[in-house]
Amino acid sequence: MDRYRIPPDTAVDLRRFDPADTGDLKEDQAEDRLEDLNHRLETLQELLHAEGKHKVLVVLQAMDTGGKDGVIRHVFEGVNPLGVNVASFGRPTEQDLAHDYLWRVHAHTPGAGQLAIFNRSHYEDVLVVRVHGLVPKEVWSRRYRHINEWERLLVEEGTTIRKFYLHISPEEQAERLQERLDDPTKRWKFRLGDLDERARWADYRAAYEAVLSQTSTTWAPWYVVPADRKWYRNLVVASVLVQTLEGLQMGYPPSEDDLTGVVIPPAG
Ligand code: AMP
Ligand code: MG
Repeated sequence: MDRYRIPPDTAVDLRRFDPADTGDLKEDQAEDRLEDLNHRLETLQELLHAEGKHKVLVVLQAMDTGGKDGVIRHVFEGVNPLGVNVASFGRPTEQDLAHDYLWRVHAHTPGAGQLAIFNRSHYEDVLVVRVHGLVPKEVWSRRYRHINEWERLLVEEGTTIRKFYLHISPEEQAERLQERLDDPTKRWKFRLGDLDERARWADYRAAYEAVLSQTSTTWAPWYVVPADRKWYRNLVVASVLVQTLEGLQMGYPPSEDDLTGVVIPPAG
């Protein structure tokens, strides 16, 4: 899965990444593997919680219908909800806007033993904000530097960060939007504004390329995940996370009490 990782300071042209890539896997093979990864992730997250040392932050970014919700549902299936926090970042409130753009985000970073998932993130402040010119260029252009430094702070204070851009094609998005339009159980997800964003596809691509080129660091790398096939998308994200958590070499701590010779007595 390392081939999807963007090395630091690399010019990225997203047109050279195939959204329909499936790594020569078949869907049924991938589903077996995902099931296995789900179980491993479940155990690793329990270990993360038991050890209570590391903090893990997963950032998910994508165009509309890219599959952020699907990843959360399928990759973290079976993971104990007690140890996982999902934070979704929509339009900032007035109070958010009265602060610096990292203020609302910082509050949702994981604590010791926790895994946090960002469904959208501080990157919106160099994506939608840049594409729509919500702040002047001189303001958003220095944010790549802030973001790198802020993420470095988190990492130096014990956080492990992995960032995923779910890469879909405009054709696949058209199908998924049409599905939302046609299916009464999915219509609630459809906003007219989504069509306005779609019309700005090339601008978003450029904004994502800038993000990937400038903020994939040794301490907080980005992965470009082929996302036209949901099953492959899930497999890539799950594989990277399992590999990352295994790399932490966690162990179950002993009890805080001395348990030598303890036998369970009859209930009183
Ligand atoms: P959804 O993920 O479909 O619930 O939509 C959330 C919306 O909030 C998207 O249109 C985002 O672009 C928008 N959003 C998220 N963060 C920001 C931000 N910092 N500034 C402006 N809009 C944002
Ligand atoms: Mg939406």
